[in-house]
Parts: sequence; structure tokens; C-alpha cells
Amino acid sequence: MNQTDRGSATYPFDEIEPKWRQWWEANRVYETDMSKVDNKLYVLVMFLYPSADRLHIGHWYNYGPTDTWARFKRMQGYNVFEPIGYDAFGLPAENYAIKKGVHPAVSTAENIRQIREQLKAIGAMYDWSKEINTSDPEYYKWTQWFFLLLYKNGLAYRKKAPVNWCPSCQTVLANEQVIDGRCERCGTEVIRKDLVQWFFKITAYAEKLLEGHKKIDWPEKTIEMQRNWIGRSEGAEIEFPVDGHPDLKLEVFTTRPDTLWGVTYMVLAPEHPLVEKLTTPEHKKEVEQYVEQARKASEIERTSTEREKTGVFTGAYAINPVNGEKVPIWIADYVLVTYGTGAIMAVPAHDQRDFEFARKYNLPIREVISPTGKPSEKPLEQAYEGPGIMINSGEFTGTPPDGAIEKVIAWLEKKGIGRKKVNYRLRDWLISRQRYWGAPIPIIYCPNCGEVPVPEEDLPVKLPEKVEFGVRGVSPLATNPDFVNTTCPRCGAPAKREVDTMDTFVCSSWYYLRYPDPHYDKGAYNPDLVRVWLPVDMYVGGAEHATMHLLYARFFTKVLYDLGLVHFDEPFMKLVHQGVITNKGAKMSKSRGNVVNPDDYIRTYGSDTFRLFLMFMGDYTEGGDWSDEGMHGMARFVNRVWRLVGEYVDNPPHGSETARTNKLVRQRHYAVKMVTRDLERFHFNTAISRIMELVNEISAYRQAVPVEEQNADVLRDAFETLVLLLAPFAPHMGEELWTRIGGEPTVFDHAWPTYDEAALATAKVKMAVQVNGKVRSTIEVDADADKDRVVEAALADEKVRRYIEGKQIVRTIVVPKRLVNVVVK
Ligand SMILES: [Zn+2]
Ligand SMILES: [Zn+2]
Repeated sequence: MNQTDRGSATYPFDEIEPKWRQWWEANRVYETDMSKVDNKLYVLVMFLYPSADRLHIGHWYNYGPTDTWARFKRMQGYNVFEPIGYDAFGLPAENYAIKKGVHPAVSTAENIRQIREQLKAIGAMYDWSKEINTSDPEYYKWTQWFFLLLYKNGLAYRKKAPVNWCPSCQTVLANEQVIDGRCERCGTEVIRKDLVQWFFKITAYAEKLLEGHKKIDWPEKTIEMQRNWIGRSEGAEIEFPVDGHPDLKLEVFTTRPDTLWGVTYMVLAPEHPLVEKLTTPEHKKEVEQYVEQARKASEIERTSTEREKTGVFTGAYAINPVNGEKVPIWIADYVLVTYGTGAIMAVPAHDQRDFEFARKYNLPIREVISPTGKPSEKPLEQAYEGPGIMINSGEFTGTPPDGAIEKVIAWLEKKGIGRKKVNYRLRDWLISRQRYWGAPIPIIYCPNCGEVPVPEEDLPVKLPEKVEFGVRGVSPLATNPDFVNTTCPRCGAPAKREVDTMDTFVCSSWYYLRYPDPHYDKGAYNPDLVRVWLPVDMYVGGAEHATMHLLYARFFTKVLYDLGLVHFDEPFMKLVHQGVITNKGAKMSKSRGNVVNPDDYIRTYGSDTFRLFLMFMGDYTEGGDWSDEGMHGMARFVNRVWRLVGEYVDNPPHGSETARTNKLVRQRHYAVKMVTRDLERFHFNTAISRIMELVNEISAYRQAVPVEEQNADVLRDAFETLVLLLAPFAPHMGEELWTRIGGEPTVFDHAWPTYDEAALATAKVKMAVQVNGKVRSTIEVDADADKDRVVEAALADEKVRRYIEGKQIVRTIVVPKRLVNVVVK
């Protein structure tokens, strides 16, 4: 065995992969020419969090397949822009830094350095000249600029608000970060706390965020999640006077004003500002205790349908404006002060939650909607939430369901006690974080002028290097007097800086605008490039971002659009979510100890094989289950392709045989057709199967026909096609094989192969079918159908079936292209 033979036995990924990465980099193959825009294609993956854990399999699953799609598009002639960057601010980086005793800036820089090397191993065609890092002052200067932009347009404001507070992490948490009442990161019990916080007024965009769904091609489930999150509902806002308090009114929102006559009590959120004023002295103690206890529960817990409802009576009464009835006012923690008005009218006969509450506390239940138009004979077993005729409703008694709500609203408006109202579940976005590792909020507090925005020319407000971490209840920035103490930009008086930083979701709400010109210094983004490169054509990332990042980014884009700063109002036209990779059916996690570490496999099999296997495991949007055997299998396939091409190059055919090329030619066209179609739709697994079939067919032809007869032209085309189809999946090997069969690098500048529909048509032959030697029928089959297919067709023939029914088939004889004989007894 000579050197070449030995070298060709297995794919030497450890030589080939670094070789081509260096070549790509030296030849700047993936630096996108931003001036070519006719066929531009902006392909984006959600940028990554540079934690100490490095790249996990989920990153690979997001980035590898998306790169395959991007490479395929490049070969189809698109000028593809595929950037990458780091969402580098945030709590984990800060906590890690505290634990290891290194400054977050140092640990983040080191994490990025190592992650960049890992990212390069994926072999993706990232344009490294466009890399961004959100913790770089060059970047966060513009995050601060966005804050000011929102502020100047009335979309950023400060208010006192109850927040989820983790006493251990010493910060506010989003609702999504509270799991079963505990901090998602450290497990500490979360408490409710009133703090003055900064908010972005995303609620002003509720309607536009809903409308925009019509023009984007996103997974329906994600759109549905956003729709529910925004939670639009139409109804009426009604004012209930408070008995004995002529100055007070309780505002409620209801989607069912037609049930107003069925109100038997009211419920306020424990945090409702009127609770203190309303509560009578004899109920004070009980109410105070309840309020205290409610503080400790998260909103998710409080609104859980499984949790038993609790509440206490305030001693006060409201007056139902439609009939003058006195109804008791309760407080209960299932009502949230942050949703609607923080007060509800309870109609236990027609709302199950109110029904349960009324039963528990012996409150009256009065039917006002009835499917029959008459009250039920027996007491209700549960709330009736369906449509029906209004009963017990004064002048509205007898009103049929159609149009009842509109009629009641018109009547409320005429009487001046209520009005039509659209309500949203969406709340303003709380962006203050009492942490260090984030973009400082560019606001100064002056004793004379109050809240003063930092002038744009003074940006960035840089993070000071020296701060103390872990001072209880204080933002780290507050511990650096040089940072805190400043002068008022308006009047020059001594003033203090805001010491909170911004939620990292602010950084990621606009990063896609920055990529085309990441060092642009005249604005957050280069408007000339944004005009031609945006919106993003294809965005790929996790479904868990549905109601945060994906909503926030849309909000930012819509604000920019309304201000005339960009020409589009949706940032991501098409969105794909990758699925999740499990291990033996279970989600991978450190605590389960079942994490598959990509690095281990890349060391053994190389990056291309790993990429291929990830894509082969299952449907991309559903994910798949990891299997070491599957990985070995993919390695065998890769080696097989490597040997097949190697043998072809070492021993090229010169013949012109045509009798046996049909099947190979057809398989070649079929593979191109199917791989193209499947790649368009992110169906990587089936595309790889078609490539495997082509490999089988080439192999079969090479084995069946003596090399001196093999058709040189057909094989050349088959091998070229194979390498071109395989290249986006296994880019390093693709490049190597392409040069071995005589192509010029880079293979990714070669056009994607095309197919001929005519070549897919199959020649047919008629064959006689005998049963025990007598001709009973004729069948038509593909000229190159194998014995099994022919027999299958013969046995399925109706006439033949009549003669073999109930009999045992002894054997079948096939004379190719002529006849089939079925022997039965
Ligand atoms: Zn915590
Ligand atoms: Zn001032």
C-alpha cells in the first residue's frame, strides 16, 4: 500500500479543515461586497452570549445548518451577507466574573477570544470583518443613543413599580425569569418590591405589532405566542362610584359589558392604590397581612389557574352604576395591578374564576345570560360562559346575544358611565437593571432641572472600571463616586448620574442594523447600507425568544420607521426556529450529566461530519435525539465519499458506454431536484438522504461496469454534481474534493447544479405475466426496475391476482424486459 492509498482511506479532516479555513481567510472569500445589492441576501443567526461554557450543541445546531442554507444560496447566485457577533453584556458574565474574581470586561474578552476559535471551527462563511460586541463602548454608545431617541419621543419614562426582586442577585427580574416564585439563575425566593424604574413604552405599539404579523413569514406558533402576549381585547371601561367616598371611583375594564347586571362583588389587586383609602378600620389588619403575603408571590403564580383563589373583604362597597346596587369590594391576588386597571367587576354566574371565588366566600351568584332566555331551575354548577339572551338586566332583559355588547356600550356612553375600550395584556418594558455589566442609562439627575438626558455629544457614558460588587441593595455603579458625581449639562450645578444599567435585550433590539457597517461612527447604523441591505431576509434562532427579543426588535424597528429613520417596519421577513437536540429522549443539561460536548466529536470526526450528522438527525425545526452510533454511521458515509472520489481521481474512466448509464443519469437529476427543493425549506435531513442515494448509484455503476468502458462524461458530471451538492453541508471537504476533481476554489463561487425534468422521465417496458406458464396479463414497468419491483407489480395486477388467490407462491422467474412467471400450487 503506498502513501496515497493509505491517505485516501479515511477523510483526513485534521489536515483538510484547517487548510481550507486558512485559505478562505487569506483569500477573504467571505467578506461580502456590500456594494453589490441586486441579489443581496442578509442571512442572520441570533448572536451569542459569550459565557464561560463556550459553544454547546444548540449553538452548532443553530449555526451549522443555517450556514449550509447560506452557502446554498450563495451558489444559487445570491450575494450573501452572514455576520456574527456577541451579545456580551448581562448577568451571567457579571456573576461569573464575581465568582472567579476577574473583571467582567476581562472575562468577557477571554470568553469571546475562545468562542471565536470555536465558531471558526464550524466553518461557517461569517464575514469576520463585521463582527460586533455589544459591551464595546463603540457599540453601547449607540444603545444609549437609542435610549435617548425613545426618551425624546416620549417612549422612555420613569415610574414607581412593583417588581420581581431577587435578594441574592440583587436585581430586578423579568416575569419570565421567575420560576415557581424563585430566581431562574440562583433559586432564591423572589420578593415583590416597589422601585422607581425606567420603562420603554412598547404598549404604544401594541396595535402596530399585531398588524405587522400579516406581512412576515414566521412560524405560526410564534406569531400566536406574540398575539397572546399582546392580548388584545375589546370591551368597555366602566366607572363604579364608591359608597361613602364621593371623591373616589373604581375603573374596571370588561369584555362582557352585557353581564354588568350580574356583578355581585368587586375585586382589587392587593397593590391597587385605593386599597388603603377604602379599607375600613375593622378590616385593616387582615387586609394589611394579605397585601404583605401577596407581595411574595410572582405574577405567574398568582394568575395560575391551578392555584386556589384567596382574598379578603375591605369592608367597603361600590355602587353598580347600571342598577344602583351596593356590591362588596374585596382584594385578591389573582388580580394584577399591572394589567388593565387593577380592578375587576366580578360576575360569578358567567366567569368561572369569579364563580369559584364566590362559592368559597359565599358571595351571591346572579344569572344574567341564559341560552333559553329563562333562569335555570337549579343553582348553577359552574359559570355559564357561552352566548345567550340577557335576563335580569333591567331594560336590556330579552336582548339576544348578537349585538348585545355594542348596544350596552352605546347605552353606557349615552349615560356617561362607561365607554368603548380596547385593552391589551402587553405591559411596558421594564429596562432598569441594578447591575454593573450593561449599558449605563444616559440620564443625569439635577437638583434644579430634575431628569436631564445626557447630550448626544457626551456619549458614550462609559462604564467605570472600578466598582464594588455585592453591596446590598445598591447598584454597583453607585459605589464609584467619580462615576456618580457629575455636573448638570443644562445648568452646570452638581448632579448625579443614573446608576442602573439597561436590560441586555435593549442591546439586541437593534444589532442587526449595525452589522453592515459595525464601526460606523456617525450613527448607530450606516443609513446608506441599511437602505439596501435591510430588512434581514432570513433569521434563524431559538423559539424561546418569541415574546422577548423578537417582540422588542420589532418594536425598535417600528419606532425607527415612524420617525422616518428606516424604510421598513419589520426587521426579520422570514424566521425559522431550529428544534432541540435531546440525548436518549431527555433535554441535555449539566445536572442530568447528559450533555454532548461538540468539541469531543470534532476532535474525533472533524467539523464536517459533525455538521452533517446534526442535519441528518431529524427535521430541523423539530430537532432530534443524539446517538453515537448515528455519528459513527455519518463518519462511515463521509469516508465512503472520500474514497469514492479518490478512486475516481486515481483511476479515471475514458470509456463511452451508454447501455447502463440511464439509472445514474436519472439519479443525478433527481438528486439535484430534490436537494434543491429540500434545502429551500430547511429540510436538511431528506436532502442528505438524496445525496446518499446518488453516492450509492455512482458506486453501483463503478462496480458494475469495467473501468475501461465506464462513460467518462456521465461520471464526470455525476461526480461534479455530487461535490457541488455536498459542499454546503460539508464545506471543508467540499472545497477539497472540488479541487481534486479539477475544479478551481472556491467551490462556493461555482453555480449550483441544475436539472433537466426530461431526464427524470423513465423509459417504460411492457412485460408479459405468466401464472404457471400461461400468459394471464401484461404489465408496464420502468425499464430499469429491478427484480423485486417487477415481481411486486406483477403480483399487484388484478388479472394475475385472480389466478393466484388462495394459492401459495412457490417461486417467481423474471426474464428482464420480457416476462415474469409466477409459479403457484
Ligand atoms: Zn437570583
Ligand atoms: Zn440642572
